[in-house]
Amino acid sequence: MPKEYKYDLVVVGGGPAGSSAALMAAKNGVKVAIIEKENSIAETVRTSGVTWIQNIKEFGIPDDCFNPIKNFTFCSPNNEVVISDTVPRAAVLDVRKTYRWLALQAEKEGAEIFVKTNITDAIKNEKGDIVGVKGTSPEGEVIFHSKVVIDASGFSSTVSKSMGFVTQWERFGAGAEYEVNVENVDADTWWLMVGQQYSPAGYAWIFPLGKNIVRIGVGVGKPESGIDPTQRLKEIMESKLGPIKKLGKITPIEFHYGLIPNDGLSRKTVYNNLILVGDSAGQANPLVLEGIRYAIKFGRVAGTVSSNAIKLRKTDESALLPYEDNWRKEIESKIKSAIKVQDRWIGLSDKEWDKELDIIKELKSEEFLDFIKADFGLSNMLKLATRHPKLAVRQLFNLVKGKN
Ligand SMILES: Cc1cc2nc3c(=O)[nH]c(=O)nc-3n(C[C@H](O)[C@H](O)[C@H](O)COP(=O)(O)OP(=O)(O)OC[C@H]3O[C@@H](n4cnc5c(N)ncnc54)[C@H](O)[C@@H]3O)c2cc1C
Repeated sequence: MPKEYKYDLVVVGGGPAGSSAALMAAKNGVKVAIIEKENSIAETVRTSGVTWIQNIKEFGIPDDCFNPIKNFTFCSPNNEVVISDTVPRAAVLDVRKTYRWLALQAEKEGAEIFVKTNITDAIKNEKGDIVGVKGTSPEGEVIFHSKVVIDASGFSSTVSKSMGFVTQWERFGAGAEYEVNVENVDADTWWLMVGQQYSPAGYAWIFPLGKNIVRIGVGVGKPESGIDPTQRLKEIMESKLGPIKKLGKITPIEFHYGLIPNDGLSRKTVYNNLILVGDSAGQANPLVLEGIRYAIKFGRVAGTVSSNAIKLRKTDESALLPYEDNWRKEIESKIKSAIKVQDRWIGLSDKEWDKELDIIKELKSEEFLDFIKADFGLSNMLKLATRHPKLAVRQLFNLVKGKN
């Protein structure tokens, strides 16, 4: 006999989206379970963990969870740009510590965490609406009944797939990275490396974590390139390509691998009794394929909206729609603009990248960061698109604005 549990809200996935949703729902007084298939929260790291200090502060993430970054170096085969700031605006997260802190906040508010529990199927009522999930745990088969389910299972979108609402992402990024100890490192400077040798459809990176630890990685756009990111990463580390040479002796600590959706905001994210959030909803900035801040932000919105709906005993699609309205209003137009820039970047040859860096050189630190974050404030974009002294910069921002 399967073991059965009953909750108001079941959150599948103990990543940043799931923990953040559970936090707000538990705070709002509903009975919440977070279900995570791994042995512990953030057992496997699948991300490089770059995010922005402004968001970190907004979320209340403690200072010992990240390494601040204030210099941004971009290099192509024959060009290099360093954009320096006076204060750090970016950060590299200690991913495990941060994700565990997020889960702990939810637990402190009363959410219950089930680890080693792999959800395999949705449970439907006679109308075909989701009313729970089932899976396996060390105790055997388990069933969780709930009024609302949040699919925060990341790239795999397990629950939504089981409901037949979504199929596998067609366009996605595949990334491989080594967390390593190095001899020399500038702990407040990150590197983005572009061009065919690093990644034919993507980029490579060096993200410092403080002390002498950095993450060196390669991301490849699929299906645009057939390259295996792990293989390419090994090659560029062995040949000590570009700035990797400056790191001196490299001693690997841990390997990370992951997939991130890059199909734009193509999915509907609310159904009767069901919300999709984070990577399962495709909420990622396509320029650098970062999604942690969206997962936390919209996870919180999903938790608030679903718990309000539960308390009002109306959890159909219309009751959950404020969640989708909220995130679409906040990021939809920005992501659409970012996709245009991504489309331009994905096709650049090495020579064109060298030239693109000449354009990027023209940007002030805040402009560069807004750009890379896809935080295209309209007034700023209009200013850059119409008033910037360099034609190439005006052209780039006209593209963002949607003029050409
Ligand atoms: C190589 C790489 C580098 C990246 N770098 C960055 C970066 O620098 N900055 C940034 O902001 N973003 C980055 N991202 C993206 C970022 O990792 C994601 O956007 C973010 O993790 C999404 O959070 P999530 O909670 O939606 O999903 P996830 O973090 O994937 O969490 C999903 C959780 O659900 C669990 N789960 C899955 N299936 C089941 C199941 N069937 N049953 C129970 N549990 C399940 C998983 O074990 C996992 O813990 C990167 C992604 C990749 C692949």
